[in-house]
Amino acid sequence: MKKYLQKMIGILLAVCILCCGCNRQPQMYQKVDTAMGTIISQTIYLSGDTTAADTVTAEVISCINDLEKEYLSWRMDSSELYWINAKAGSGQLLEMSDFLTNIVKQCQNVYVASDGAFDFTLGSVARLWNIDSWAGQFQGGSTVNTSQAVYRIPTREELDVAMMAVGCNLSNIDGSYINLPERMQLDLGAVGKGIALDCVKQVLLQQEAVTGAVISVGGSILTYGSKPDGSLWNVGIVDPFDTAHSIGILTIPGGCSISTSGDYERYVEVDGVRYHHIIDPATGYPADSGVKSVTILLKDNNVDSYEGLFSDALSTACFVLGVDKGLGLAEAFGAEALMVDSRGEIHMTEGMESYFYLSNAEK
Ligand code: FAD
Ligand code: MG
Repeated sequence: MKKYLQKMIGILLAVCILCCGCNRQPQMYQKVDTAMGTIISQTIYLSGDTTAADTVTAEVISCINDLEKEYLSWRMDSSELYWINAKAGSGQLLEMSDFLTNIVKQCQNVYVASDGAFDFTLGSVARLWNIDSWAGQFQGGSTVNTSQAVYRIPTREELDVAMMAVGCNLSNIDGSYINLPERMQLDLGAVGKGIALDCVKQVLLQQEAVTGAVISVGGSILTYGSKPDGSLWNVGIVDPFDTAHSIGILTIPGGCSISTSGDYERYVEVDGVRYHHIIDPATGYPADSGVKSVTILLKDNNVDSYEGLFSDALSTACFVLGVDKGLGLAEAFGAEALMVDSRGEIHMTEGMESYFYLSNAEK
């Protein structure tokens, strides 16, 4: 009998411990790192095995580093993109991995839908402007702050030559095979951070302990799962006229990818003129569409989709297209858009209005 009682007490204790564990609120962990030349900040809620925090945050960073190293980098000779660029003009047909083939396919879709406003073949022009050397808003310390005194704006003639090697329609892409004409260079800088969000989502989905998260890859943001109190996630939108402040917040559920393209993110100023990093593929010059910033929000439709990639590609494309065409393009992709024009006016798709709260204003 004594043994039986001891056994029962043991079982009851175990049940109590388990129940206490069940009721424990998920714990929050935060981590800031650098990768892809930018700042990666992670806020993660974990329940159950909270010792997994270090593992989860480390996996997020290593998936972003792997993405750059294996596929996207235009500088590291370990990446597929590097070799596609290096073999431009060789006439050699290269077979891409399934991963890169799918990315290229989605980028071609945005190229066509945006009438070429988004063009991932403009590497030769981006290198001519030397965008990589301009200090970035979210720089991770690896960028060089260009001395504006020594910066030389490319000449029209130089741009004309570089522009001859730009045009997705001129690239030879056939399914998973690719061959670039001479001097053409792929540049996935406009989608890289969005692709990173898609990869991070896959990492989080594999972690049972993660109940919610907000991951920012240089300002491109993924919301995942939910907060312990069930409230929505808040994401601030930078004021393009005063980047220390926000114009408002988006109040959104988990499963959203948000990307912003703005003329304040990377630029150089020469004689009072700002040259920013979003190029109009029609001219080779920084886009001059009367837009200061574009924020795109895409909700998760299924786990295999490319919301991060599309939100990033569309923010760049809409910036080039300007307000009217930009809002139309976003809607065509089922995305919500918020655009700030050069007079400071805010333009939104109808759906965005239900997510956006103006700073210091009641809804
Ligand atoms: P977005 O609007 O999303 O994209 C602008 C970028 O896309 C431009 O910089 C240009 O490269 C390209 N682009 C411009 N116009 C167009 C257009 N019309 N269509 C298509 N593409 C266009 N930065 C560093 O300082 N150091 C690094 O080591 C570094 N490594 C990186 C590695 C990877 C894999 C990636 C993806 C980015 C890296 N970056 C790095 C940042 C990169 O150089 C760009 O500045 C950044 O991707 C721009 O993102 P954005 O959201 O500000 O602008
Ligand atoms: Mg972009």
